Amino acid sequence: MISVEQALEKILSYVDILEEKQSPILDCLGQVLAEDVYSSINLPPLDNSAMDGYAVQSRDTLGAGPQSPRILRVIDTVTAGSISRYEVEPATAIRIMTGAPVPKGADCIVRFEDTDETLRKKSSGEIGILCEVKTGSDIRRAGEDITTGSLVLKKGTVIRPSEVGVLASLGRAKVMVIRRPVVAILATGDELVDANQPLPEGKIYNSNTYSVAALVLRCGGIPKILGIALDKEDSLIAGFHQGLDADMLITTGGVSMGDYDVVKDVLAKEGEITFWTVRMKPGKPLAFGTIKGLDKNGKARKIPHLGFPGNPVSSMVTFELFARPAILKMTGKKNLTKPMIQAVIENPIVNTDGRRIFARAIVEKRDGQYFAQLTGPQGSGILTSMSLANGLAIVPEDKPGVEKGDMVQVMMLDWNEEI
Ligand code: AMP
Ligand code: MG
Repeated sequence: MISVEQALEKILSYVDILEEKQSPILDCLGQVLAEDVYSSINLPPLDNSAMDGYAVQSRDTLGAGPQSPRILRVIDTVTAGSISRYEVEPATAIRIMTGAPVPKGADCIVRFEDTDETLRKKSSGEIGILCEVKTGSDIRRAGEDITTGSLVLKKGTVIRPSEVGVLASLGRAKVMVIRRPVVAILATGDELVDANQPLPEGKIYNSNTYSVAALVLRCGGIPKILGIALDKEDSLIAGFHQGLDADMLITTGGVSMGDYDVVKDVLAKEGEITFWTVRMKPGKPLAFGTIKGLDKNGKARKIPHLGFPGNPVSSMVTFELFARPAILKMTGKKNLTKPMIQAVIENPIVNTDGRRIFARAIVEKRDGQYFAQLTGPQGSGILTSMSLANGLAIVPEDKPGVEKGDMVQVMMLDWNEEI
C-alpha cells in the first residue's frame, strides 16, 4: 500500500496545466490569468473632482472665512460624464459634481459645505467661499490609479472579484486565462437511483455524483455528469466511453473486493492501473490510472482516471486529497493544498491498522487556540459527518492513536472568519 504523499505525487505527475482560453471576465473568477495585462488608458483618464463643490482658482480663496466670504461668479455647472466648455478665470467658479472632469483654469475644489450655497438663491449667479483651499485639494489626478502603458495584472494572477473590477476599469471585457478542466463523473452501482426518481425498495439515492460534481465546481472545474452505470462490464464501458473527451474521469464505487466491483476489470481493459490502494482511512481502495482516449484531432491520449471508493465520505475525502490538487494543477494554480492548522483534539482516536486517519471534525477557536471535536460516528457511509465538519483531523499512520488533549494537524475543508 502506498502513502498519501506517494499517491498524490503519482497523480500529479500525470496531469499538466491546460491550454489558454479567452473568456468573458465574469467567467474568469478563480481562474489563472494567462497574459500580462497592460493598460491602454490612464485611470482616471482625466483630473476629476473628488467631491461635490466648486472648481476655482486657489488664490481666489485667500483670506476667505465664515465672516469674510470671497464672492465668485458662477459661470457653469459640470456633472460626471460631461466636460465644461468654459474656463475658470480669476473671480469665477464652476459648480462641479463628484467624478466630473476639472474644468480648465481651476486648480482646486471647494466643497459645498465650505460655501454659502444653502443660504443664497441660485439666481444670484454667485457663490461665497467660506475658507481657504489649497491648490490640488479634492482633485483626483489623471493616472493616479493606473498610468497608460503600465503592467496592471501579471500572468499567473488568480482572478478575484477585485481583478474582475480592475479588468473592467481598463475596458477589458475578455481576457486570456487557463481554461477550466472538464471532469467526467460516473457513479457505479446496481443499487443507485437518481435523486429525481422514486426510491424502490432495496435501492439508495446516488449522492456521490452530486457531492463530487459540487466539489469539482468549487475548485474551478466543469463537471460532466455521466449518470449511473450498473455493476456490469458493458454498462461500465459504455459509461467510460461517454467521458473520453474529458480532462479527467472520476468513477465512484466498484473498487473494493466485492463480487460486483468490476471497475478494476474494466480499467485493465480500457487503460492501465497505476495503483490500487492507499494507506489511509477513509479512502483505502482508491484506484488511479489512465483511460485510452482520443483528442480533438483523433490522436491517442491518456485520460487520468480516479476510481473513488463508493462510500460517500470516502469519495469526498479522496476528492479533497487527490482530485482537487490535480484539478488545481491543471488550472495553473500553484497552491494545491488545503490550509493546515494545529489543534487540540477533544476526543480520543484509535488507529487500529497503521493507516492515516482523516477524522471529520468541527474546529473552533477559543482563547486563541484551535480545538477539534469529532462530528460523531466516523463510519465512511455517514455523509452527515462531512456536512457537520469543517476540517479533517489527521492521525499519522505510524501512531496507535491520539488521546484527548493531544495536538493534531487538521486539514481545513472550509475556512471562515468565525474559526
Ligand atoms: P462500493 O465501493 O461500490 O462497494 O460501495 C461502497 C458503499 O457505498 C456501498 O454501501 C454503496 O451502496 C455505497 N455507494 C456506492 N456508490 C454510491 C453513490 N453513488 N451514492 C451513495 N452511496 C454509494
Ligand atoms: Mg458498488
